[in-house]
Amino acid sequence: MFSATTSAFAQESGRQGADRVNIDCSITKFDAAIRYQQSSAEVNALQYQAYNFATLRVDEAVEGIADPSSLAVVLDLDETVIDNTPLLVRDLRNCHRYDHWDTWRHWEREGHPSLISGAKAFLEHANETGIAIRYISDRTDDQLESTLATLNELKLPQVSAENVLLLGPSKPERRDFVSRNHEIVLLLGDTLHDFDMLFEIDSLTQRREVVAENRKQFGEKWIIFPNAAYGDWNESELDGWDAEPMFEDYETRRGVPAGIEHPCGRALTLVPTK
Ligand SMILES: [Mg+2]
Repeated sequence: MFSATTSAFAQESGRQGADRVNIDCSITKFDAAIRYQQSSAEVNALQYQAYNFATLRVDEAVEGIADPSSLAVVLDLDETVIDNTPLLVRDLRNCHRYDHWDTWRHWEREGHPSLISGAKAFLEHANETGIAIRYISDRTDDQLESTLATLNELKLPQVSAENVLLLGPSKPERRDFVSRNHEIVLLLGDTLHDFDMLFEIDSLTQRREVVAENRKQFGEKWIIFPNAAYGDWNESELDGWDAEPMFEDYETRRGVPAGIEHPCGRALTLVPTK
């Protein structure tokens, strides 16, 4: 989370006209990321892919188990089960940094998020197997009532004050709490701290190294969802190619120069350019 600061939107109230040019609208740098998260069919496909893997893993886990309720699947909520992008778009349009987190609580109380693609079918299937479902989210515990109302409005299974574990205790502590009575066989989330405290390190480089060291867990016990809109990486330095830019007509890439045989065996000629 980021420390709350005086918001651009709040600063704007009381200002008019020319003062608007002084508003910090740095949130617009996430415009493409939010479009990708909210609108792209590719994100839909990744979400379905994640839930397809999760379904396979649940089925494997419960096969031959006398008491599936002794097992648990643990899911994060935001950007794993529910889609909060309408809030992000609203804040983007108001030049407000949603990653200052000062607009989320209102959304949690009064917003109507939609479901992440594949979430409902997965959760209903998991529920039918008899496995325990636990929702662990860093929404704060004083928002439990509204969070339960949202999840019930979406008609999700096993939603109760006992099964939806909010902040307060850290996520590792809440996972330990679930483990007292269940074997956690699967964790689903959009950030690495949804899986293990191994990832609770500041350095993104080190975090990427820990991901590589634990690569076999992804798609097995850990199912990760795409979230391009926010995360600890969003102020990271970018690493670019330092060669001088060279500009060429895109159309020249469409063909193979005459006299060169394409690997597929067909003799090709250069496609004329504009
Ligand atoms: Mg999340």
